[in-house]
Amino acid sequence: MSLLDTLSGKGLRREPPTRDEALAVLATSDDDLLDVVAAAGRVRRHWFGRRVKLNYLVNLKSGLCPEDCSYCSQRLGSKAGILTYTWLKPDQAADAAAAGMAAGAKRVCLVASGRGPTDRDVERVADTIAAIKARDEDVEICACLGLLRDGQGERLREAGAHAYNHNLNTSEAQYADICTTHGFGDREDTVRKAHDAGLSACSGLIAGMGETDEDLVDVAFALRSLDVDSVPVNFLIPFEGTPLAERWTLTPQRCLRILAMVRFVCPDVEVRLAGGREIHLRSLQPLALHIVNSIFLGDYLTSEGQAGRADLDMIADAGFEVEGADVPSLPAHRRPGAPQEAPLADAPPAQAPAGDAAPAREPAARTGLVTLRRRGAGTELPPNA
Ligand code: SF4
Repeated sequence: MSLLDTLSGKGLRREPPTRDEALAVLATSDDDLLDVVAAAGRVRRHWFGRRVKLNYLVNLKSGLCPEDCSYCSQRLGSKAGILTYTWLKPDQAADAAAAGMAAGAKRVCLVASGRGPTDRDVERVADTIAAIKARDEDVEICACLGLLRDGQGERLREAGAHAYNHNLNTSEAQYADICTTHGFGDREDTVRKAHDAGLSACSGLIAGMGETDEDLVDVAFALRSLDVDSVPVNFLIPFEGTPLAERWTLTPQRCLRILAMVRFVCPDVEVRLAGGREIHLRSLQPLALHIVNSIFLGDYLTSEGQAGRADLDMIADAGFEVEGADVPSLPAHRRPGAPQEAPLADAPPAQAPAGDAAPAREPAARTGLVTLRRRGAGTELPPNA
């Protein structure tokens, strides 16, 4: 049996690939690319059909963070020229969220820069959740406020939050290269706290920061072992004014291989195409919909995405459909109250790679594709949705 048949079969059974199999996906050649997408697509369709869940970001507090995450335009010392503002009032945030909800977003992600929230910040977010739910009580709210302290996840859950996002971003081995003010273990701890508080854990990664294939596979398996429900896969947006400004290392083909590897490692979770898709996948974005089952609609925290209308057209043109509010996002066994199942069997030994290693290719820097956000939350201009 070929590697790709093995991987799609395992994905249908929720069995993990071996580490070597995951690495082999990243090493496939451009000749094999459509076969890789098709194999990951079988797994995606088995668990999620042709549905695409839309998520909408609202940046509650922008910039001036004391942490030094090197990929982040909001970091300490960033010269990226982004919008900077302190906490939006609940009604301002609800107005911004409403634009995304009107365009079909099922989840609103409330994000604030900073190391982590104070208890007062958590209460502000609780008020914001109430303001959003007053307009649509069914909308899913995900909070993303940094490192959690004891009890904060429980308070957010009580206030109506459905999920909590805190990305691992990269492997434990690479973490100190991208951030010195907190560690990989701090991030794992917050994901566990969210889980323990009864929130749906959302945690993902950023590709394109100088990591090796081993780092990507390590972070994917770390996310699997944390049993997260959703995995946003970001591709580095190399903001001018940050340490990674010159880092253009991704090709559209590499992005698709990374998404496929994550789908094989985390077959039955929401894999979300996140920041950087427009500038790195470019015209291959629709192919990614065969692998992921979720995207962000419209703009990101500090940069602009493609027009929300273009996102909806892309989904329809590629033959997918926006997931409705009445359809559960996750497979039955991952929903709250589902019985715990016995651990999955160990994976069998690795198979041979599907093809020759991908030839090295120098991606062109596309600096002009990064546009700082100047509309929506924190401005007088309407949001992009
Ligand atoms: S903690 Fe969050 S907002 Fe602050 S620099 Fe890191 S990623 Fe950016």
